[in-house]
Amino acid sequence: MRHGILLATGPLLAACALLAACAEARSPTHTSLPTDSFAPAREELVETGIISYGVSDPEVIQAMRTVPRHRFVPPEYQDQAYDNHPLPIGYGQTISQPYIVALMTESLELEPGDRVLEIGTGSGYQAAVLSELGMEVYSIEIVGPLAESAASVLGELDYANLNLKHADGYFGWEQAAPFDAIIVTAAPDHVPQPLLGQLKVGGILVIPVGPVGGFQELWRVHRVAVDVYENTSLGGVLFVPLVREPGTD
Ligand code: SAH
Repeated sequence: MRHGILLATGPLLAACALLAACAEARSPTHTSLPTDSFAPAREELVETGIISYGVSDPEVIQAMRTVPRHRFVPPEYQDQAYDNHPLPIGYGQTISQPYIVALMTESLELEPGDRVLEIGTGSGYQAAVLSELGMEVYSIEIVGPLAESAASVLGELDYANLNLKHADGYFGWEQAAPFDAIIVTAAPDHVPQPLLGQLKVGGILVIPVGPVGGFQELWRVHRVAVDVYENTSLGGVLFVPLVREPGTD
């Protein structure tokens, strides 16, 4: 199995070259809990903001205990990295609330080695959680500088089995499909048809859907047969909108 980060598309080749060097020293898994100075705050967040909110999957909880969220936020917000709320990451975007990351991840019902597509790489934090869980991760980000900085921090932290692409995620990642699970971390006003098509039968899509500027409903979409999708609401949420490249409708 090859470990490493692939950052697709032409304009980001410089970051690829940088990451090739990072790959040399990469270790495949993070087996013990990190002992950085944020560890007590991270543990408290997991106890009071994740477990007590009802997340129960032990693997997801362990990943939330392990991934250093402070590395994915701008320096001026590091002291809030383990508060249970979203934080700005630049370009009008946010890193999601930790509880929502844990809830969405748990809702995907992942098995080791699953192929998971994420739409909205943002800071790279959700991708790191998926990698920590042993997934084969494909993540797409539409804002070029965010795609580059996420690739950079994920490389520094040695996360494995990550494939990153700078593109409009509305269309999914056809060449890498089908996926066992798809997670969308920006909100469209409808479920993109390409994502439904790229989900394996038996797979789960978790996606916030709602009007721009309003609250959305978080949906779990289970593809139970080729033409049958079962939708379950996971509750109300507030995500940044899924934006579209001009002229791609
Ligand atoms: N998962 C992220 C959260 C990012 S917020 C994290 O862990 O930090 C949502 C992200 O979706 C933003 O970075 C935004 O630029 C991106 N986004 C919005 N529309 C998109 C689209 N059509 N395709 C890909 N990414 C998109």
